[in-house]
Amino acid sequence: DAAQTPVHQTPAPQPPDPQIPAILDRLRAAFDSGLTRDLAWRRAQLAALKRMMVENEAEIASALKADLGKPFAEACTAEIDLVSSEAALARKHLGRWSRPQRTRTPLAIQPGKSFIESAPYGVTLIIGAWNYPFQLVLAPLVGAIAAGNCAVIKPSEMAVQSSALLKRLVERYLDPRAFAVVEGDAAVSTALLDQRFDLIFYTGGERVGRIVMAAAARHLTPVVLELGGQNPCIVDETADLTVAARRIVWGRFLNAGQICVAPDHVYVAASVEARLLEELKRAVTAMFGPDPRQSADYGRIINARHAARLQSLLADGRAVTGGQADVDACYVAPTILTDVAADAPVLAEEIFGPILPVLPYQTLDEPLAAINARAPALALYAFTRNKATADRIIAATRSGSATINDAVIFMANPNLPFGGVGASGMGAYHGRYSFEAFSHRRAVLKRGFALDASIRYPPFTPGKLALF
Ligand code: NAD
Repeated sequence: DAAQTPVHQTPAPQPPDPQIPAILDRLRAAFDSGLTRDLAWRRAQLAALKRMMVENEAEIASALKADLGKPFAEACTAEIDLVSSEAALARKHLGRWSRPQRTRTPLAIQPGKSFIESAPYGVTLIIGAWNYPFQLVLAPLVGAIAAGNCAVIKPSEMAVQSSALLKRLVERYLDPRAFAVVEGDAAVSTALLDQRFDLIFYTGGERVGRIVMAAAARHLTPVVLELGGQNPCIVDETADLTVAARRIVWGRFLNAGQICVAPDHVYVAASVEARLLEELKRAVTAMFGPDPRQSADYGRIINARHAARLQSLLADGRAVTGGQADVDACYVAPTILTDVAADAPVLAEEIFGPILPVLPYQTLDEPLAAINARAPALALYAFTRNKATADRIIAATRSGSATINDAVIFMANPNLPFGGVGASGMGAYHGRYSFEAFSHRRAVLKRGFALDASIRYPPFTPGKLALF
């Protein structure tokens, strides 16, 4: 059970895989052969990816349990089901998405036909983070496959069991000519980034995001960056505090807070602060019991280093609930903090753990100014019954996404693009947007040889110029 989750230390450094150049050659040869252009092949790979998730549900869930103490229900919904439904959706719509889109041709270029073709980039690199070790590499992979690319997948070395299982499963289920998993840490990632890829899709922190983008620039390789930061949440005096508290607690403590779209801090109207704190506390107990450490539905921190980092943040305020940590067991209690100073570290860096500071405000201008003083977040949340307030919050801020009266759940809508803006990232994916992220919009003009008007060719006599 969750209380007996194995504890992992940060893994020892590994030497870069000497096979990397050979893997790249293999994938490039497959791409150049036209293998991935075939829609039937793409559909078969998407079906295989779905099968891979469904047939190995138990093994995937147990790797996630070992790495993160991830509850079975969370493993199913956020990793296994999400990837299989993304694969199924892409397979179903592939014909429509990949069809060249006809566009108008101006009279001056007639006769002619103009199209926008969704062309694959080529050989792509997908680098993932450890908090959702399957979802964060396989959901992008759905886009890579659907759009007709080859891909090297580099899972995070921190999720040790998940990384090893990913390699084994991808090699068993997907076409090895087009896909490869390269395991390893920053050194391996650096060795991969030395190679020329045609697109790099990176999920992780902002610091490494900059390294990835700089490495990509050397080859003029485009990047999609899915980064993090602090996600603000506003609760005004009109909100249903019981429902708001439940949704905030669920979003904050899912995966023990190690989720890039979790609400990181709550600005609450001062007049309802005490009631909200009470409701938040009640929601924590309702979901995880009087001792969350014993709850099978509460996860663990990825390793002792991160648990120690989080433990030090617990001192940044007064714990309304929680406040305990056992670093060796990678346990940090779901914690609600109040009396937090504006310059406290818990408000500065991305928390990425189960700690939620609550900050009172007098007028809405205060949280809006505080939000705009920071880099744009990946996700912004607001709880209010007042439609004008909701619209004002959305209009007055910038963020990758905005959700009114809920938290995190927008991720489950494949019709919404998922991605950040500014320091929280660039580019977006999920559903059709994954296909688009991995496609180059190629302009195609087709003409015949008829009506070759001489007007455009020199010499430009005065008579010709008059016609322009
Ligand atoms: P990280 O930046 O430490 O590592 C992510 C990946 O980068 C790993 O695969 C790692 O091996 C690789 N890496 C590490 N150092 C590197 C280097 N010097 N050069 C090249 N590659 C290197 O991030 P993390 O700790 O794994 O994940 C946590 C962060 O990820 C948080 O900031 C979180 O918000 C963000 N995140 C974002 C999303 C999203 O979808 N936007 C999802 C999950 C996590």
